Amino acid sequence: MATALAQLRRAVDQLKLSENDWTTLSTPRRTLEVAVPLRRDDGRVEMYKGYRVQYSTTRGPAKGGVRFHQDIDLEETIALAMLMTWKCALTNLPYGGSKGGVAVDAHSLSLAENERLTRRYTSEILPIIGPERDIPAPDVGTDERNMAWMMDTYSVNAGFSVPGVVTGKPIVLGGSLGRASATGDGVAIATREALKVRGIDPQGATVAIQGFGKVGYWAAVALQKMGLTVVAVSDVNGGVTGFKSLTDVFEHSKVAGTVIGTPDTDQLTNEELLHLDVDVLIPAALADSITEATASGIKAKIVVEGANAPTTPEGDAILNSNGILVIPDILANSGGVIVSYFEWVQDKQNYFWSADEVRENLNRILMTAIVDVEEMARDQKVTWREAAHMLGVSRVAEAHRLRGLYP
Ligand code: NAD
Repeated sequence: MATALAQLRRAVDQLKLSENDWTTLSTPRRTLEVAVPLRRDDGRVEMYKGYRVQYSTTRGPAKGGVRFHQDIDLEETIALAMLMTWKCALTNLPYGGSKGGVAVDAHSLSLAENERLTRRYTSEILPIIGPERDIPAPDVGTDERNMAWMMDTYSVNAGFSVPGVVTGKPIVLGGSLGRASATGDGVAIATREALKVRGIDPQGATVAIQGFGKVGYWAAVALQKMGLTVVAVSDVNGGVTGFKSLTDVFEHSKVAGTVIGTPDTDQLTNEELLHLDVDVLIPAALADSITEATASGIKAKIVVEGANAPTTPEGDAILNSNGILVIPDILANSGGVIVSYFEWVQDKQNYFWSADEVRENLNRILMTAIVDVEEMARDQKVTWREAAHMLGVSRVAEAHRLRGLYP
């Protein structure tokens, strides 16, 4: 939260906004904390904390992921909802920003327990979500299965099918082609443009990726298609390098639950992965992996933030002073919310797009944001992170001004 607030304060100062603007922009609109009881398969009842934060609804309905992770709390959820707000404004989507989740280790749940927990959480936050209010999506520890259960729980209560209540759904329930890979595809597009800025040929450029989940895996696939070489990937247990093909790592991790142990690979720690001599480093796991302690060893020329808030302000300062180009999270990982927006539009219209339409529109919207950020960074002589925040924050501030203060 301190990081998110510090970034906002800097943007407010750089934009010369008023203290009234700061007060409005630094306050979440609505925070909900709920108790989520779960009957375990053995009959025990456990209680988990759940959250939904609508940081802003000024530019449209709130939009943000649902995380199942033991470490989440209200403060982190507010910070992530704030980031979603600037991200949606930066990409000019007609949304505010939100985030939610349950403080539970998703890996500790059986499939049936996961379903019961998802449905009860949905039911607890039901009064404040909906296609016109707040639209959840997958995040760490959740996937399209959870979205199907959320959509069903909401729809059963409404009495009819409401596909637009969540995005990241299975295709047959009104999901969009291209949504599963969208965040990774966006990370790859951002990487491609960053390589151009640094004058590095993508053919044969090397990449290390921390986190081999939904974002990391699809980013790896898209980058390989662009001609880059992914040399190392990792998950919570550590990383591997020296693999012949990404498919080997993927197939192994599907069975073993970790990339570790993929045949014919060498093992490395997450910290060793961060410090590999590569062209591009992609943190795509959790927050705070690039810190004061780890940043100075980073040799990559470009860092593309697939994860949300993977770099602390101290880590960021070191990367900047070492001349490393950092493509910030709210730009680099915005492909997910952009295609979520397409899914919501398709659900509203009951008219579904081809994969090519999704791909072209993703590229167009993301490229507009990338060009906006690059120009702002050059004109104002600020970092890409500062430029991205200035753009996002200024658009939300302008919407506040135009709507006025009621009453
Ligand atoms: P995921 O649960 O699918 O994957 C997370 C990956 O990170 C897993 O491989 C996990 O093992 C690894 N990991 C967890 N803790 C780690 C640690 N301490 N060290 C190294 N690796 C660790 O989650 P995801 O959806 O891929 O999300 C990853 C990040 O991207 C999160 O910060 C999320 O908020 C952000 N993000 C996700 C989306 C999306 O569409 N899924 C969109 C935008 C941003």
